Amino acid sequence: MFKIYLSLSKTLTRYLNVLTLLIYVMCVSLFTISILANIGCDSKKPPSTSEAGKIRIVCTIGMITDIVKNVGGDQVEVVGMMGPGVDPHLYKPAAKDIQRLKSAHIIFYNGLHLEAKMAEVLADISGDVKTVAVAEGVDRTLLLSPPELEGQSDPHLWFDVTLWMKAVEIVRDTLSKLDPDSETVYRKNTEHYLAKLSKLHQYVKTQAERIPPEQRVLVTAHDAFNYFGKAYGFEVRGLQGINTATEAGIADVQKLATFIAERRIPAIFVESSVSSRSLEAVKAAVQSKGFNVQIGGELFSDAMGNEGTPEGTYIGMVRHNVRTIVQALTGETTSTEEN
Ligand SMILES: [Zn+2]
Repeated sequence: MFKIYLSLSKTLTRYLNVLTLLIYVMCVSLFTISILANIGCDSKKPPSTSEAGKIRIVCTIGMITDIVKNVGGDQVEVVGMMGPGVDPHLYKPAAKDIQRLKSAHIIFYNGLHLEAKMAEVLADISGDVKTVAVAEGVDRTLLLSPPELEGQSDPHLWFDVTLWMKAVEIVRDTLSKLDPDSETVYRKNTEHYLAKLSKLHQYVKTQAERIPPEQRVLVTAHDAFNYFGKAYGFEVRGLQGINTATEAGIADVQKLATFIAERRIPAIFVESSVSSRSLEAVKAAVQSKGFNVQIGGELFSDAMGNEGTPEGTYIGMVRHNVRTIVQALTGETTSTEEN
C-alpha cells in the first residue's frame, strides 16, 4: 500500500514539475512576444511631423536657398549646399552632398554653367530626382551673352533684382505643380516676397543714383556684376573673367591697374567668395603708376553672408553691396534703414 502511495506521489511530483516548467516556458514566451510586439508597433509609428508631409529640397547657392525658404515656407524642408564664402564655380560636391541630392524630392540650382564642377553629378541624378535650373528658365533675351562666353550666357543674374524676381516665379510654379494642394500658400508667400524685392530694386536704384554717372565704375575680383552694371548704370570691370577657374595673369593685373590709374577710380572691391590676393596685386600695381586706389570693402558676389546676420539673406547681401559701393565711391555714408 505504501509502495503504491510512494509511486503515485513520485508520478504526481514529476507531473507537477513538468507543469511548472510548461507554465514557466509559456510565461517567458508571452513576455518575449509582448516585447517583440511593442518593438514592431514602434517601427510602424508614422514619422514625426517634421519629417512627414514636407517636400525635401536641396539648393546649390545661398541666393536660391533663400528663394525656396521664402516661397516654400513651412511646406518644405530646405538644405543649402553652399554656405558663406563658397565659390560655386569651383565647388565639387562631397559624398554627403551626393547623398543629400539623391534623397531630395527636388533640386534647385542656378545653371548656365555656374556650378561647373557639379554638371556630371546633376546629370546623373536627374533621372531619379527632379532638377530645376532657375536661371535657365528666365527668358534668354533678357540674359547677357558676351562674346567671350561663345554662345553661353552670364550666370550671375541675381544682381539685377528684377531678373531674380523671375527666378522666384520659377520656384513658385515648380512647387505649385509638384504640390498642388499647397498652391495657394506658395502664391501668397511669393506675392509677399516679390513685394519686398520690388522695394529692394527701388532701393538699389536710389542708392546708385547718389553716385554721379561718370563715377559709377565698379572694379571687382571677378566678373560677377555685369547684370548689376546694366540694371543700375555702372561700368563694370572684373580682374578674373566670368568664371573664377582661370587665375588672372600679370598682364591682366597691369591692364586693370592702367585703367584704374587713368580713370582715377577711388576704390576697388574684394569678394567674400574669391581670394583677395589678386586684388591686392592690382592695388600695388596702381600705386607703382603713381595713383592710390583703396580697397573699398568686401562685396557678396556668388555667396551670401553668415546665417543669422543681415547679409545672410539675399535682400541683406544686395543692400550691403550697394551701401559699400556708394560709400567707397562717394566717401559718403548711406542710410541703413529698412526698405
Ligand atoms: Zn561668379
